[in-house]
Amino acid sequence: MKVYKFGGASVKDAAGVRNVERIVRLSLNDQMVNDQMVNGLMVVVSAMGKTTNALERVVAFLDAGKEEEALAQWVDIIDFHVAIMKALGLQPGADVRLQGEIPYDPQRSYDENYDQIVSMGEILSTQIIAVYLLKQGLSVEWWNTPKLLRTDDTWREARVDDETSRNIIRAGWNRPNRPQIVVVQGFIGGTADGRRTTLGREGSDYTAALMGNYLDAESVTIWKDVPGILNADPRLEPNTVLIPSLRYQDAVELSYSGAQIIHPKTIRPLENKQIPLFVKPFGDPQAAGSCISAESEGPINVPVYIWRKNQILITMRAKDFAFVLEESLSEIFDIIHAHRLKVALIQSSAVTISVCVDNTRFVPEAIEALQAHFKVSYNDGLSLLTIRGTTPDILEAAKAGREILLTQTTRRTARLVVKE
Ligand code: ASP
Ligand code: MG
Repeated sequence: MKVYKFGGASVKDAAGVRNVERIVRLSLNDQMVNDQMVNGLMVVVSAMGKTTNALERVVAFLDAGKEEEALAQWVDIIDFHVAIMKALGLQPGADVRLQGEIPYDPQRSYDENYDQIVSMGEILSTQIIAVYLLKQGLSVEWWNTPKLLRTDDTWREARVDDETSRNIIRAGWNRPNRPQIVVVQGFIGGTADGRRTTLGREGSDYTAALMGNYLDAESVTIWKDVPGILNADPRLEPNTVLIPSLRYQDAVELSYSGAQIIHPKTIRPLENKQIPLFVKPFGDPQAAGSCISAESEGPINVPVYIWRKNQILITMRAKDFAFVLEESLSEIFDIIHAHRLKVALIQSSAVTISVCVDNTRFVPEAIEALQAHFKVSYNDGLSLLTIRGTTPDILEAAKAGREILLTQTTRRTARLVVKE
């Protein structure tokens, strides 16, 4: 079997949904042997367009007590989906269930409400796509991931219970007379007591990788609005080149450095089962794209530029002279871990330790906790630029005209913390 993942950009309108149909049909044709379907296709879908951002605004309005604004935003989201349904010839309300009420409960925490509300984006997108494919005569089933992908209740960053999920999903997949195509929501899961969870922003890639792992997929393909994995972000760099093949390890490093191309958690489930991951353009489904697997066909012979935005550089200094690096390090990392900070870079000197972390909502409390032990200073509004395959010339060119707070280099990789 194969797993296909379609992100928000690929299903942002009716034309996008029709294109999903085209790509799915190509795959089914490839899998037909003597008119018999040999395998099957699992289609993992994100929320349509920018729906997740819009749903996040609903949560924020409700939390601020702005009910009217929340409702207006909610109605906008529903209208956006209704317009797509109509353009596809579907009947809103009849073909796809529409939820009039926002699933909000003031007794619950912000993060728990967030998961109940934000998960609606994927529920809507998958219902629309499944019904549309069905009406086009394909053999399709819609699955509800919150009942299948079991997680704990770490809201907004739920951890998946692989064993339970694998058993449920395998049983569903191996059922006799299962339709050829199964459409599921990316990004969301559910607790044992039936509440919806989310796996972290952009988490649909991770869902696709988990499905591939559980079902021993022959491959997983992520369909994107770029030709594949490029050596730089085409929005920032005019002359990008495609990297046709790379190793799992390269892909992990790229996504850790901040490349937005695949979610960092995606690689491990695939590497464990040696399942190749293709990244292909949804606008040109026959193109080769990039393939990530155990062995690349050759070294990556272009410099690769990766930006990780919205960074904060936090520097800890001893309150007295009794600074023991090892002790301080463990203390600092306990605090960092407890506050869910994501460290992008570490630098130490005799009396200071600096960490560059994503500037998330968890940072202020973490800084407060660190201040109990250290003198803390910080700089925000930063980006981390990683250049893999660098040379002295390339590094100089990258530094030109930029305010650099910190540079770390190894033989082939340079990392610069720069002012945005
Ligand atoms: N819809 C979710 C998000 O935008 C998940 C995803 O796109 O992968 O973060
Ligand atoms: Mg998305």
